[in-house]
Amino acid sequence: MGRRLLLLGPPGAGKGTQAALVCTAVGIPHISTGVMLRDHVQRGTDLGKAAKAIMDAGDLVSDEIVIAMVEDRLSWDDAACGFLLDGFPRTVAQAEALDALLGGERPLEAVISLEVIEDEVVQRLLDRAAKEGRADDNEETIRNRMAVYRSQTEPLIAYYRNADIVRPVDGMGGIGEIFGRIAAVLSAS
Ligand code: AMP
Repeated sequence: MGRRLLLLGPPGAGKGTQAALVCTAVGIPHISTGVMLRDHVQRGTDLGKAAKAIMDAGDLVSDEIVIAMVEDRLSWDDAACGFLLDGFPRTVAQAEALDALLGGERPLEAVISLEVIEDEVVQRLLDRAAKEGRADDNEETIRNRMAVYRSQTEPLIAYYRNADIVRPVDGMGGIGEIFGRIAAVLSAS
């Protein structure tokens, strides 16, 4: 049976990079709401038009929109064999909706919690801003995204701790080093 994983961590923790490596290694689809939303913005869909200003400010798109997106994505055939969620859920309401979607038969089995030092993370995001020119990577937005993470998303660690599925991983260091830690945690759980 495939694996049902969630990668959790603040903006700039390297979730996207690590998610791609894990998905290749494990052979499961990478489900990133950030990637899906940016695709909508790029294609100029109604959803993309509604989401753009919110994303540029570093705020959260409505629970309703992202839950519907993930519900649809999880219904694809490839997700029947497992998946890795990246950037979703970001609120307790989203986590509850995800639990309801997955049902008791195939709950999440591990939440990899990437732990980083905030100053380091802000620097990574500023570096990415310089390289990729993402509209939500200016300093003010980055600070807001961190504040939103702390107030809305960090409570998910306690939420999943109740189910005893949180696997903390040190997110400081090189890409390969961090991936090694994640791989070790996954082979142990
Ligand atoms: P990410 O690439 O995961 O950092 O997401 C980029 C932006 O997309 C976030 O700052 C939010 O504005 C939006 N976004 C992505 N995932 C979610 C989510 N699960 N809930 C609400 N907004 C989201």
